[in-house]
Amino acid sequence: MLVLSLTLMAHASDTLTGTVYLEIVDDFTSDGFPSEAAPQHVLRTDSGEPVALGDADGVLADLGCARVEVSGAADKSGVFWVDSAACVDGGEEPTGYGPDAVTTTRDALVIRINMTDSSVGPSEADLDAMLFGTSASVDAFFALSTFGGERLQGDVISVAILYSASTCNVFERFDWAAAAEAQATIMGFPASAYDRIIYVLPDASVCTWAGIATQGGKWSWIRDNTDPHVYAHELGHNRGLGHANGLWECVAYPYFDRSDAMGIDYIRFNAPHLEQGGWLDPSDVVEVTTSGTYTLEALHRTADGVPPRALKIWDPSSGANIYLSLREPVGDYEAPMTPDIASKISVHRFLDPMTTLSDRPTLLVDALSVGQDYWFADGTVRVRFLADFGSTADVQITVHPCYMAVPVCHAPPPPPTGCGGTN
Ligand SMILES: [Zn+2]
Repeated sequence: MLVLSLTLMAHASDTLTGTVYLEIVDDFTSDGFPSEAAPQHVLRTDSGEPVALGDADGVLADLGCARVEVSGAADKSGVFWVDSAACVDGGEEPTGYGPDAVTTTRDALVIRINMTDSSVGPSEADLDAMLFGTSASVDAFFALSTFGGERLQGDVISVAILYSASTCNVFERFDWAAAAEAQATIMGFPASAYDRIIYVLPDASVCTWAGIATQGGKWSWIRDNTDPHVYAHELGHNRGLGHANGLWECVAYPYFDRSDAMGIDYIRFNAPHLEQGGWLDPSDVVEVTTSGTYTLEALHRTADGVPPRALKIWDPSSGANIYLSLREPVGDYEAPMTPDIASKISVHRFLDPMTTLSDRPTLLVDALSVGQDYWFADGTVRVRFLADFGSTADVQITVHPCYMAVPVCHAPPPPPTGCGGTN
């Protein structure tokens, strides 16, 4: 903290240039209470120095770029408070937000960070098996969940740093990473050679979070170090995925969608995340604008797009796309699916990320049993789960003439009351 504060004080012009990332702190608290998961911005200067940013006026969220010059001032704690920001060219952009055209294998450096008063429990062999093993590993999870689109390989090393696990804040976390990377370089594992850097901390650390990741960046910190879901979740953030939110008494909370690993459960990704990652063939996502009966294949079946695995309908009333998909409780990671999702039509609301600096979660707004309806909030579209055939399902979609703002029409009847169009 002292080193970083002195470094910031050297920035007399109160202007910093670099790449801004969203850091997401995960506590996985979703037992009916609001989560503490709160994203924050971190600027990485072109020399690699991370600087925690304060953004009281929200100037970063809608900037539309990540390469920035920010003006402001650091407070006594070392947080640099942003007054204004502008896009600049050059340097490193966050990656991984858009679809990948081909299978991508990420090279990951896993650093066991032993501290002066506490050590990492899992051994190098444990972590190698958990992350990169041929079965039940995080790589195996991504291979299944993304239909082979996203894979993981890498190295596991151990370092010892002269820091205590008895304190925890953002500045110390950056110092731990820098000390660990310096040793890794000496050992012949320079961080610059890897797509992902996973700092594994002692779980006895007083840090209260399970994991932290840069969204669209390559860094993650893991404290809950024996749970493979935490690693997969943070790597999902690195890939650009936001949280899988759900409703509790009509209010959206992080993690509350139990049909996606970006929520509380270690389960394969939901339909909007699969499309965001480019992991569905385009023929597997059908955009619906007209009334009809549509057949869906269960989302995680190995299919060829006939029938499709997701339906997508633009919802003007919410300014987002609605995704429909069938989840079938069959197969690795899908079998433990909770009853509120299993054999139902998941209804997700999602707006593709428009900027890299704001959190864009998916939202599970409903899960339909056979015979149940989902209505758009303005009453222009009704979705009905008609029939369940196990691995496929029929969905009836009724589109009112007023859908998509037809200039002259009679207003549709109001939808049933509920959570924003659900019933
Ligand atoms: Zn998260």
